[in-house]
Amino acid sequence: MATAIVLLGLCLLAVTFCYIGRCLISPWGTCTRCRPGGKNRTCRACNGTGMRPRLGWQLFVYFRRLHSGGTR
Ligand SMILES: [Zn+2]
Repeated sequence: MATAIVLLGLCLLAVTFCYIGRCLISPWGTCTRCRPGGKNRTCRACNGTGMRPRLGWQLFVYFRRLHSGGTR
């Protein structure tokens, strides 16, 4: 049982690191709202660019801002 928990934890860690790496390599993902039709100039989610920052990247920027604001 303990082995299963350790394996599960390792899998979660691996997935998390893969996601963080992906966010660092390409912080901009494609917009899911206007994806089928490509770029949509009236799309509010991406302002018509067709690109949106990933959730992980948004969190990273948020915490970086918090940090820089707290250590000023
Ligand atoms: Zn869009």
